Amino acid sequence: MPDLHIGGRWVGSDKGDRREIVCPADGTAVATVDEAGPAEAAAAVLAARRAFDDGPWPRTPATERGVLLLRVAEILERDRFEIARAESLDTGKRAVESEADVADVIAVFRYYAGICVSGDDGRVADTGRDDVFSHVVREPAGVCALITPWNYPLLQAAWKVAPALAAGNTFVLKPSELTPSTAILLMRTLIEAGLPEGAANLVLGAGPDAGAPLVGHPGVDLVSFTGGLVTGRAVMASAAGTVKKVALELGGKNPNIVFPDADLAAALDLALTAVFLHSGQVCSAGARLLVHRDLHDEFVGELVARADRIRLGGPFDPEAEAGPLISARHLAKVEAYVAAGLAEGATLRCGGGRPGDPGLRDGHFYRPTILDDCMSGMRVVQEESFGPVLTVEIFVTEDEAVRLANDSIYGLAGAVWTRDTDLARRVAARLRLGTVWINDYHPYVPQAEWGGFKQSGVGRELGPSGLAEYQETKHIWHNTRPRPQRWFGG
Ligand code: NAD
Repeated sequence: MPDLHIGGRWVGSDKGDRREIVCPADGTAVATVDEAGPAEAAAAVLAARRAFDDGPWPRTPATERGVLLLRVAEILERDRFEIARAESLDTGKRAVESEADVADVIAVFRYYAGICVSGDDGRVADTGRDDVFSHVVREPAGVCALITPWNYPLLQAAWKVAPALAAGNTFVLKPSELTPSTAILLMRTLIEAGLPEGAANLVLGAGPDAGAPLVGHPGVDLVSFTGGLVTGRAVMASAAGTVKKVALELGGKNPNIVFPDADLAAALDLALTAVFLHSGQVCSAGARLLVHRDLHDEFVGELVARADRIRLGGPFDPEAEAGPLISARHLAKVEAYVAAGLAEGATLRCGGGRPGDPGLRDGHFYRPTILDDCMSGMRVVQEESFGPVLTVEIFVTEDEAVRLANDSIYGLAGAVWTRDTDLARRVAARLRLGTVWINDYHPYVPQAEWGGFKQSGVGRELGPSGLAEYQETKHIWHNTRPRPQRWFGG
């Protein structure tokens, strides 16, 4: 069966372009998929446009849209193991992580189904006139281009697809060319749930070929992009040509601040999860440890010992605690950042290379790495390596901790560890981050907004704001007793 979904039909690539998808854990081929170019991307936009302008979805009552989203959640629940397996094969991430991702995806569809059902009927604006009925309503934004990365392929797609559909939009989804399998499964799910033809379209392919044409297309009203900073800037610039609404979820270089009075057992454990989960390929990875001087030697010593014991392996290896990096190219990027850090004066405490285990030779594995004695100005501290690399900086005062944490072009997420509630709240208030965890790291819920300050992005996903991104606001002024105004005499 062909893999592109355009205007209610599964179609192949016009030019017959196909890509082999390989598992990054061992290099085995897991799928071969059709790839779109500008022609298929344009066809998908036209299909979504027709479905928006003339099709039933934008005019379907919100409560019925909610019922469909619940059906999507039920089908995903039924197929969760098949979907998780496909995600693990594409990304190399552990099966348990993929299963947790699918559970989160289901929760996102349920949350936006609930918002639809509970309804937002707009509001009446007080005009001070009894002859005027003035109300403000929310309408779907239109045709949405949804562009997603490879680290959480289905999850990132769901954060966009669920609110876009809840608001009554139609869309074209363009997942990462490296990890398309679960987007195909999601599209099948939407069809099975009964989404009208053309409301959901899928194009696969490389960013410049299949993504860029969506961003520049005048038929698209909104672009929601999750990916790297450099690509995000290009997307924003290109979308400016047709003044589209733009939502960007970009990178992070996230601080994890540990004060001496923290619960150290928990802080230590979560500091490992913060940075080494999914081998650091997490936008909110706690890749910058800011540790108080009094704590440094003991805390970092124990962290190094535990990081050294993390077991690497493929997605279905029950012993594995972390998986591979996504590609040889990405592995080379991580290696280059570690080399740059060492050249700038960091001290290698563990990791710093590929594992020696011959069983891992065919995968893109990199050992959990801790670089001590780091300074805020180093490239490895400032730029996102997006790998299992932790940099350690020391602070003494609260002000210094805040200053170091905010010394970044990014502002996605971070954590503060202390038993002093006043201190925790003070620091949380001063951090220029979209998410602050106090005595925790990484949890999120669909009910709460996600997104970045500064160059971590524009707009928010999840929560009520995640729905508002996909809506336009319209003010309707209804003069019930119109009379000539006589502004002009003639
Ligand atoms: P990327 O920017 O390389 O690619 C993201 C998507 O954009 C892919 O689908 C790609 O094909 C597409 N693309 C590439 N060039 C394009 C162009 N010119 N026009 C339109 N689309 C184009 O990012 P990646 O390497 O896939 O993902 C890793 C990045 O994603 C990291 O920086 C990470 O921090 C970020 N990320 C952020 C969040 C968040 O919530 N803030 C979540 C996950 C990942």
